[in-house]
Order: sequence, then structure tokens, then C-alpha cells
Amino acid sequence: MKLDIVVPCYNETEVLRSTCARLLDLMSRLAADGRIATGSRLVFVDDGSTDGTWPLIGRLAAEDTRVAGIKLSRNRGHQIALLAGLMAAKGDAVISIDADLQDDPEVIPAMLGHFRSGAEVVYAVRGQRTSDSFFKRTTAGLYYRLMRGLGVELVEQHADFRLLGRRALEALRGYGETNLFLRGLIPQLGFPSATVTFDRTAREAGISKYPLRRMLSLGLNGVTSFSAAPLRAAAALGALAFVASLILSGWVLWIRFSTDDAVPGWASTVIPVYFLGGLQLLCMGVLGEYLMRVFLEVKHRPRYVIEHTVGLGD
Ligand code: UDP
Ligand code: MG
Repeated sequence: MKLDIVVPCYNETEVLRSTCARLLDLMSRLAADGRIATGSRLVFVDDGSTDGTWPLIGRLAAEDTRVAGIKLSRNRGHQIALLAGLMAAKGDAVISIDADLQDDPEVIPAMLGHFRSGAEVVYAVRGQRTSDSFFKRTTAGLYYRLMRGLGVELVEQHADFRLLGRRALEALRGYGETNLFLRGLIPQLGFPSATVTFDRTAREAGISKYPLRRMLSLGLNGVTSFSAAPLRAAAALGALAFVASLILSGWVLWIRFSTDDAVPGWASTVIPVYFLGGLQLLCMGVLGEYLMRVFLEVKHRPRYVIEHTVGLGD
């Protein structure tokens, strides 16, 4: 069985060499046991890094024939970089893992075990993540809860450390979305799956390439590409506001015609204006989020452009 390990890298010069050594060592052990075939590869995807990541990948590929590289022509984000690697991989199974090895590669043999016993998708989930900041842990927890509440099927505490078999990969190829949220997409593929658990460790070197801005954008992509609930909530809010404004108008008319204290009401004029104005803007904002994504999807732009490859054979 040929295995490809796909590693997205964005400005990872500080960790890449040791990551490469650790993964190659693991692959040697697996090959020695006959658990993976020769021709198994380690595929680094350079996501338009601005430091020396690509030249470093080139050197690593020159040092070991098992190392291959793909360079995207510019930074497209973790999910797209991952997809580029998955689509270029030719193994019978592909494992994706982050470059900083915060996710423990030592569970890979267990993942292969599940694959061999028939699981087409193997999710690696984080047992404990005390090495992550309190903020990251709690926001991640809340996010999983929110997604579940919205009816999106997610594997709890699973990020992008997973094994995909050839059939799952070919199925994934059929999904053409630009707003990629792989951890929502993969459970949709179906196929028998399994999970393995590991403890998340701290980043060995370098800083997180996922600042708050990127985390929010990934989170928003997850919600909007898998759930229409916010759209429905906006519609419900709009309906509620409409009913409220009808009642309010009735009340204004009643004051006007049935009482003597019909002072031209400043409050009753201005409050609905503010209220409805605000509400409309809110709803338009929600609509805009979806519209923006529809706009991006209908263009069917290529999701990435590969500038160079090294060691991929053909
Ligand atoms: N990454 C990427 N493109 C980006 C941002 C990140 O390919 O635009 C990669 C990064 O090199 C790493 C993985 O995505 O391999 C996860 O990033 P990081 O470890 O910084 O995220 P965190 O663990 O802090 O969530
Ligand atoms: Mg990390």
C-alpha cells in the first residue's frame, strides 16, 4: 500500500527540516515493517510562502527521493493548500498533517491499521489540547457546539489530520467549492470511517500561521458553506419585525384617532425608524455573506495554480 503524507506549509522554515526528518523516520519504520510500500512519499505544499520555505523543500527533495514538493503561485490558505496536495497525491491512501507536528504523527500506524481493516476515512482527534491557549480551546469548543446546533456534521476535536483512501479522494475531487471547509466536507462523503486519539503538543518552533482573522474566516466559511440556518434566522427576524411594526402602526393609529393626546410623537416615529433600519441592515448583512459566496462559486475559478513541482515523477 502506497502512502502519501501531505503537509501544507506557509512560512515554515523554522520547523520544516525537523518535521521532514521525523516523518521520514516514521516512514522508514513503516516501510521496514512492510506496512507501506516503496514509492510512498512525503509531499510538502508551499502555500506561497515569503520566507525560504520553497528552496528548503527543494533541498529536502534533493536529499531524499521520498520527498516531493508543490509550490502554489501565491498564498491561498491552509484548506486550499491542503486540497492541492491531496489532489496531486497518487498514493492508495493520503494522510494530511500540519507542518508544525502539533498533531502527533505517532498515531499514523494506528490510522493505517484502521485503513487496512476497511475504514476509508480515518479521523485523528485531539484528546487533550492543554498546549493550546485557553482562548483557542474555548473558542474551538464553542464553535463545535454552534456547528452541531446548526445541524452540521463535524467530528468533534478533529482538525485536518486525517487519512483518506483513494475512493474518498476521488469523491472529494468531485466537489468544486471554492469556500473550502474540509472538516465539514469529508463527513459528507460518507464511507466507513474510524477515529484515533492523540494529545496535541505545542508548536516546536515558529509562530502560529492562524491568527484570529484567519480563524474567524475559516469559521465563517464553515457555517456559510454548510448551513442555511443564519439565512433562515434572518428571514424569521424580518417576519417578526414586520409583525411588530404592524402592531406599532395600529397603536399609532389608535392614539391618533381615538384619544385627544395625539401629540405628533417623536418617539414613535424615530424608534421604528432606528429599529427597522438596524434590523434591515443586519439582515442585508447576512444575505450579503451568502451572496458573496454564491458570487465566488459561480465564477468557477481554478482554486489554485501550481507554479512548480519537484520529485512528483510525471
Ligand atoms: N498554513 C498554510 N497556509 C496558510 C496558513 C497556514 O498552509 O495560509 C499551514 C501551516 O503551515 C501549518 C498548518 O497550515 O502547516 C496549520 O497552521 P498553524 O499550525 O499555524 O495553525 P494552528 O496550529 O496554530 O491552528
Ligand atoms: Mg499548529
